[in-house]
Amino acid sequence: MIPIAKPLLGKEEIDAVTEVLSSGMIAQGPKVEEFELAFSEYTGCEYAAAVNSGTAALHIALLAHGIGKEDEVITSPFTFIATANSILYTGAKPVFADIEPDTFNIDPEKIQEKITSKTKAIMPVHLYGHSADMKAIMEIAEDHKLVVIEDACQAHGAKCLGKRVGSFGTGAFSFYPTKNMTTSEGGMITTNDKEIAEKSKMIRAHGSKVRYLHEMLGFNLRMTDIAAAIGLVQLKKLDGFTATRQKNASMLSAGLKGISGVVPAITKPGCIHVFHQYTIRAQKRDELAAFLKENEIGTGIHYPIPIHKQPYYMELGYKDSLPVSEKAAEEVLSLPVHPALSRDDVQKIIKVTREFYANA
Ligand SMILES: *Cc1c(COP(=O)(O)O)cnc(C)c1O
Repeated sequence: MIPIAKPLLGKEEIDAVTEVLSSGMIAQGPKVEEFELAFSEYTGCEYAAAVNSGTAALHIALLAHGIGKEDEVITSPFTFIATANSILYTGAKPVFADIEPDTFNIDPEKIQEKITSKTKAIMPVHLYGHSADMKAIMEIAEDHKLVVIEDACQAHGAKCLGKRVGSFGTGAFSFYPTKNMTTSEGGMITTNDKEIAEKSKMIRAHGSKVRYLHEMLGFNLRMTDIAAAIGLVQLKKLDGFTATRQKNASMLSAGLKGISGVVPAITKPGCIHVFHQYTIRAQKRDELAAFLKENEIGTGIHYPIPIHKQPYYMELGYKDSLPVSEKAAEEVLSLPVHPALSRDDVQKIIKVTREFYANA
């Protein structure tokens, strides 16, 4: 079976973990600090705060910016549930703006239409590893004095107009095993704002800077040194992983070109796509997925239900009509693109997909 995702962990990661375990210091400690410094440099940000998941990074970023009850945050309905849930956790209301049909990212024009007097922030998602339109989004944010929190959980190293994502506003990254790099579970907040960095570090540790002095309500959302040690090794490998993802993606795009029924993944000018997923639009999507599975090729649907149509959100009273997202949910299919694929694997994915449409 060719899996849809596979973390690449080797001897270096094992040695790094062993070293931490042998040291006896296994909670948040010097490795976390070292990882924060390395990740902030990589992203081109002055500060970074490590936490125990991408969800925690989003949640803390919102709280650090003072977002809560009565506030509205505009985000994409076509993303993993954690994006919108992080807004709900703060007491604020997620407001969904529909997406662009080509990148599947939030559409800046639709953001404009959703701004009210309650809007405090925009949370774009760099879906599949392709940057949202950060030029337009930063302009809107500036015009309306809005905070920008980037959900960069799928986009480690991706660029927009020469800048890394996570460095435009406040960034939130995930290091879940299926992401472009992993720490097992883990996350990171990136920022150029010293106060946001300090607040984030307090919120992750029960609102305290000095032990047993609690200045605000916080949580326990810390990263361990065990996770950070894995992250330090993975970060060194990230550019290599990304180059392989990009090479696999261009092989897929070349191989899928011209199939009627398939729209291959695109990269917009000015963007560096890091291909967390290689996602096509496919006619007869579910039949294609079944055929690929019969041929031992794993696929994924990211995502089958837009967030405003999720049962829990319907219960909250969401009645939006967001046709671009709803159509995408019926047509998207992610094909394996991860760096553990061999050349033969990629050729097989192309061959089997071609075979399906030749007989469809
Ligand atoms: C993975 C992911 C998250 C959540 O990250 P976790 O580390 O799983 O909590 C949030 N947003 C998006 C877009 C993601 O892909």
